[in-house]
Amino acid sequence: RREQLSPEKLAQNICQVDDVDAQMSLMVQLFEFSESEQRLRDLLVKLFQEVFSEFFPESVILPFGSSVNGFSVSGCDLDLFLDLEKTKNFQASAKTTDKPLAEEEATEMESRSEDSILSDIDLVTATVPEILDLVATVLQKCVPGVHHVQVVSTARRPVVKFCHKESGLRGDISINNKLALCNTRFLQFCTEADERVRPLVYAVRYWAKQQGLAGNLFGGGPLLNNYALTLLVFFFLQTRSPPVLPTVAQLKDLSDDGELTVVDGWDCTFPKDPASLQPSGNTESCCSLLAEFFRVFESYNFASGVISLRESRSLPLSDFLLSDAGQKFKMGPVNLQDPFELSHNVAANVNEKTALRLQRSCQDAAKYCRSLQYQRKSSKGKNWGLVRLFQPGSPQAAERQVILLPLMPATQSLGSHSELHPSRDFPQLWFRRVCAGVSFILQHVLKCSCSENSQGLGDDRESLSSDPEEEEQLNTRTEQLSVGSKRPPDVEDAELGSPPAKKPRTECSLPEAESVTWDCTAWHRVWLGRRRVRRQISSPETDPKRTADPLELEGKVSEAISQQERQTRPVDPLFGFTVCAMIRDGGSGEHDPQVSLNFTPHPEQGAVFQDFFHFLQGFLPRMVEQYLTTKPSDRH
Ligand code: ATP
Ligand code: MG
Repeated sequence: RREQLSPEKLAQNICQVDDVDAQMSLMVQLFEFSESEQRLRDLLVKLFQEVFSEFFPESVILPFGSSVNGFSVSGCDLDLFLDLEKTKNFQASAKTTDKPLAEEEATEMESRSEDSILSDIDLVTATVPEILDLVATVLQKCVPGVHHVQVVSTARRPVVKFCHKESGLRGDISINNKLALCNTRFLQFCTEADERVRPLVYAVRYWAKQQGLAGNLFGGGPLLNNYALTLLVFFFLQTRSPPVLPTVAQLKDLSDDGELTVVDGWDCTFPKDPASLQPSGNTESCCSLLAEFFRVFESYNFASGVISLRESRSLPLSDFLLSDAGQKFKMGPVNLQDPFELSHNVAANVNEKTALRLQRSCQDAAKYCRSLQYQRKSSKGKNWGLVRLFQPGSPQAAERQVILLPLMPATQSLGSHSELHPSRDFPQLWFRRVCAGVSFILQHVLKCSCSENSQGLGDDRESLSSDPEEEEQLNTRTEQLSVGSKRPPDVEDAELGSPPAKKPRTECSLPEAESVTWDCTAWHRVWLGRRRVRRQISSPETDPKRTADPLELEGKVSEAISQQERQTRPVDPLFGFTVCAMIRDGGSGEHDPQVSLNFTPHPEQGAVFQDFFHFLQGFLPRMVEQYLTTKPSDRH
């Protein structure tokens, strides 16, 4: 038995080399099978093949998954597919009595079916669990050195589990999983298409395991599995500019007619030989690709689209849901389409909590990757590079809740403002606008009370801008902004029984520093049942003029929900929280800066704050975008 590599041992080893790229390739060498482990697996497969051939004539046993897809890790499970197609044919022809067999053929069949248990079962009509029971019996009784045999028929792909006594190797046998053979070949193909694929996937898989985000829970559990993680890395590599990997649709176009493969009705065609691909024009190092992977996914909206490796883009939900594949697709907080079985979400088992942790772990990792400790070897013998990335997340990180917003709206419908570019021109101006938007939405759209914490706010304009021209433009915009942000006074405040809200001190505060904090109180569960209330409110009978401004409409929705709630419970604060907004620079200048909003619930706020925060993750970015793209003069 080979010892599994401990995190300490791994750290010791990878601290020795000179840079992160070298750490990554060393990691692959340390994890992948040794020659002896490879031999052991080959021998086991041979042994299974011999035994199964006895009982299921002409059956073929084929390994798939990490034993053969290029991402082996010492001790990983042995995934086997038992192909009984030919056995079915064999059984069918053995039964055909009206077709006389050649004498030789007949004797052969007789002698083979002596040992065969096929007389007990009709493979064509038997159910998968019935066949698996038989496979389990064969394993238990006839394969030497195998124990703990167990049929798991409840999984999406039912299997027989087993363990090889001497080596401790665990494995699964499935019989209806031909697609897995195709996707295994696809993973293998991609590892051979570019040499950066393996080190990256190993690093991401190990990182995710250390953060408790991934586990080998095929068929159950709320964590990502290694297959899904690998596809996420592939997608990321497809979306680099220039791409490191081609899209699956491009691969199909590159295939010869003879390579056409259709499994269970799904097109699984891609070329056999990765050498036929043009080498990628992308020259990014593994070190920077890994950092970029975290940067991309720290703010990725997994729920709003479906990640497609066929097209290397996120398919908008509205279109996708109408497609054939979309109708069967199991939507969840992470939507990752299988590259071949297009109606299958490979991350369908992932729950909200895991999705949130994935995002937070990516945020922490992205932040760390920007530090020198990641990029440079420590001269003082400290942990550096991948080592610190692989340390399980800190408890404080788990408390923090972050929403990232673009510093400038994606839709550039800003009229005369649109020539501005946030990374070159006035980041502070845009930051102020975003903050004004956030404050407006929390107070007027979601009916929270917010007071701005003056801490960290300076009056020192100089610190923001030293260029007189910029100063002037900034002032003009600021004026426009303050004019624009005069929303109607909060009617609710005048009503009896309304929250004893401190009058919002800032209608739309204009922060003049690089961070601003609000202390907020939420009074009503305004995130519950919004869709229904919105439908009622925006119907032609109740709103003949049809409220055109989405922010106004959303404000009315919150107001209606608050009123309903007031009838059933006293108006006490639900919970308190603080929000701290900061500008995050976009790294090495290639990326636009962002605004990070750090939410901290007051102590012991529990689940209700979590619900609110989940809702905000989707709602706030949309509303801020809306706020920013409405010209100030269009707002009343
Ligand atoms: P490891 O066993 O080291 O975790 P693996 O790649 O073998 O890695 P398994 O979970 O054992 O992962 O799955 C084995 C194979 O089954 C995968 O390589 C893939 O071909 C297929 N598979 C796993 N999960 C899914 C899924 N959610 N959807 C489709 N195919 C899957
Ligand atoms: Mg496996």
